[in-house]
Amino acid sequence: MTHPTPSNGNEPIALAAPLPRRSRQAKVVWGSRVVTVGGDAPVRVQSMTNTDTVDAIATAIQVKELAQAGSEFVRITVNTPEAAAAVPYIREQLDRMGESVPLVGDFHYNGHKLLTEFPDCAQALSKYRINPGNVGKGEKRDRQFGQMIEAAMRWDKAVRIGVNWGSLDQDLLAALMDANSRRSSPWEARQVMYEALITSAIESARRAEAMGLHGNQIILSCKVSGVQDLIAVYRELARRCDYALHLGLTEAGMGTKGTVASAAALSVLLQEGIGDTIRVSLTPQPGEARTQEVVVASEILQALGLRVFVPSVTACPGCGRTTSTTFQELAKQIDDFLRAQMPVWRARYPGVENIKVAVMGCIVNGPGESKHADIGISLPGTGEAPAAPVFIDGEKAMTLRGEGIAREFQQIVEDYIARRFGRAAGVV
Ligand code: SF4
Repeated sequence: MTHPTPSNGNEPIALAAPLPRRSRQAKVVWGSRVVTVGGDAPVRVQSMTNTDTVDAIATAIQVKELAQAGSEFVRITVNTPEAAAAVPYIREQLDRMGESVPLVGDFHYNGHKLLTEFPDCAQALSKYRINPGNVGKGEKRDRQFGQMIEAAMRWDKAVRIGVNWGSLDQDLLAALMDANSRRSSPWEARQVMYEALITSAIESARRAEAMGLHGNQIILSCKVSGVQDLIAVYRELARRCDYALHLGLTEAGMGTKGTVASAAALSVLLQEGIGDTIRVSLTPQPGEARTQEVVVASEILQALGLRVFVPSVTACPGCGRTTSTTFQELAKQIDDFLRAQMPVWRARYPGVENIKVAVMGCIVNGPGESKHADIGISLPGTGEAPAAPVFIDGEKAMTLRGEGIAREFQQIVEDYIARRFGRAAGVV
């Protein structure tokens, strides 16, 4: 077989990378913590609690868990006077626990009343989510929307004008449907719905700006539950305005379906430079931690090369050469271990999230992949000698044998991280 020579006339293959974002920058603030959104800020991860907000302790604990998993804002439901009254206590609990993650209040129907009648709630939140489809009907709509914007201006808070196709402004949709029926070539109903979503978001934002809210206090979203719908809507939304955009597939669903659908939709848009914050709206499976949505959102950004949150574990899928589950268990154990350590390591070992660990199942790709990683182990496949070489910084460093391979490898990883990143941080 002859190999092509370097002078075969081909141009170098273009590198793939997400396009730069074009949105203006917003700020979400709590105390001295300022989280920028849009512009050249990193794409942010958001999440939402599913506790009863009235239970301030349970909500504060879940907010902290979500923040420790990597959520950079956490949204909480504010739906009743009791919930609004609990918000300052939730904030107080978090501050007492040393957790400064900004809280976002999710308002529907009565947000204008709650933000007016509970000033401590309005003040304790860092951002208000306003759904233009749920602020009131008829002549009340503008007045009640205006009251929420006034609260944001009074307390100097950011707002997300969050349109959702499940609660789209029906008057607007009806007006656009009427106008469409008079077209010589009417659009498809779906296209009219896209137009209604985008119009509702942008007109609401412009109304807020006309009242005096700064454009850099506004973040927009137009959530739908279909992947192709989301892509179509956000492409157009990004074309028509430069507000920072919050991205998410609403009601994504459970487990694999919700994860894959969210990753598919968000990845296309993020690669095109669209989206400044993301949320993965997973329905937790029974017994599943709420933090799973943060893990998935972080993994999407990390897989696209937009952010780095946790050390990555490269593991092979296994095949007929691996007859035991040892390497699967080790890969999971190492992955769980690295994630569990991150809240502490993030502060103690700056840069630790960039390391790459490989856990491989046999000699075919094991040594090669392990050498590409910062630290890797190649477990023995069927018929191989029962020994697991460990590679550190591309060199074979030792060979592990026996029952305690998993425990020993975990210790080797921990020592490596302490040695490499602790020294830089002055810890060792
Ligand atoms: S590295 Fe070995 S065990 Fe893993 S998938 Fe490849 S051939 Fe199979």
